[in-house]
Amino acid sequence: MKEGIINPESPHSILGFARGMTKGITNVLFLFNSFLQVNILPSFGFLFDIDGVLVRGKTPIPSAKTAFQKLVNSQGQFLVPVVFVTNAGNCLRQKKADQLSHLLGISQNQVMMSHSPLRMFKRYHEKCVLVSGQGPLLDIAQDLGFCQPITIETLREKHPLLDVVDHERRPNVLVSIYFSVVLFGEPVRWETNLQLIIDVLLTSGYPGNPYHHENYPHIPVLACNMDLMWVAEAQSPRFGHGTFMVCLENIYKKITGKDLKYEALMGKPSKVTYQYAEYLIRAQAAERRWKQPIQTLYAVGDNLMTDVYGANLYNHNSWENELASAAAAHCRSVLVCTGVYNPHTEVPLDTRESITEAVFHGHRDFRFDPGLVEPDHIVPDVDAAVDLVFQLENFAPN
Ligand SMILES: [Mg+2]
Repeated sequence: MKEGIINPESPHSILGFARGMTKGITNVLFLFNSFLQVNILPSFGFLFDIDGVLVRGKTPIPSAKTAFQKLVNSQGQFLVPVVFVTNAGNCLRQKKADQLSHLLGISQNQVMMSHSPLRMFKRYHEKCVLVSGQGPLLDIAQDLGFCQPITIETLREKHPLLDVVDHERRPNVLVSIYFSVVLFGEPVRWETNLQLIIDVLLTSGYPGNPYHHENYPHIPVLACNMDLMWVAEAQSPRFGHGTFMVCLENIYKKITGKDLKYEALMGKPSKVTYQYAEYLIRAQAAERRWKQPIQTLYAVGDNLMTDVYGANLYNHNSWENELASAAAAHCRSVLVCTGVYNPHTEVPLDTRESITEAVFHGHRDFRFDPGLVEPDHIVPDVDAAVDLVFQLENFAPN
């Protein structure tokens, strides 16, 4: 600023002083207003992680019960839109809802599994898709809208020569074409699934034909739940579906020299998962005729790499699909200390290095960014999370 020119922004100028006063008064009024204003209708929703937030293994976490008493009215109806978001994928939504019945009567529409966004991929629903995983795969696929899902087991029966273990079976040369591959979760016999999925990819969906590498990109692959490992009863983490995907990606690369490409990756921390969760939240609000637009999603979870990373990634808006236009809310992460995250773990001197190490466990297609693993809030448990959010939102339902 040159000397002699009046700077209206300067607090020393009359104009600046007056503006300062106005700003000050406005701020005070805003604070006063927000202090007085109590919201009885929600303009926010909750995305609750399940493992480490509501249950540990099969044991309920005590604070979950208290938290849920605050979320319902005397008729047991939710006072805010709530969606339960889990990366589990080997069962139907109803089974997961039943597992939470010790807390409340939860409808299956409130439960989101890693595979739930597949409902949006309607262009694949009419076609023949090869499904990989375990559990009631055909039921899951049909429930999601797929009309012609084929399991790896069926593919083996149709093309017995492909699986060398079964080479004595009589060949049955049925011609079928696979339009896409859906990876639901880790299978039981990895070598069979790896072999047959590679066969389908390298033959453009005609696994009885010889390989032809020039067909690239290959037929679409959609994958759910990319968690490299998960914690069970054993002392150390166990292989998850992410490990199976690492095997598949590397075998494909080794054979063809090219990268395996995913049409979509879903489950936390993928954006499509949060978009779908938001869609479910809005649907609940509409069903209850809550007129206020949903502005904030609070993602309550115990894992920096999935729950916090996913919530932060969601705010980096670059939408690619049909839910894009509906997405207006921003997401805030609330980290709880009842699961994977341990606030008492010694912080290493170089946190960047330790985070890099942790992010190495993330999927190949997710970039490393330390900013994405910073939670907005850290609280002891889910009950404290609900209290915090109600306070932040000045929410006081009747
Ligand atoms: Mg968890």
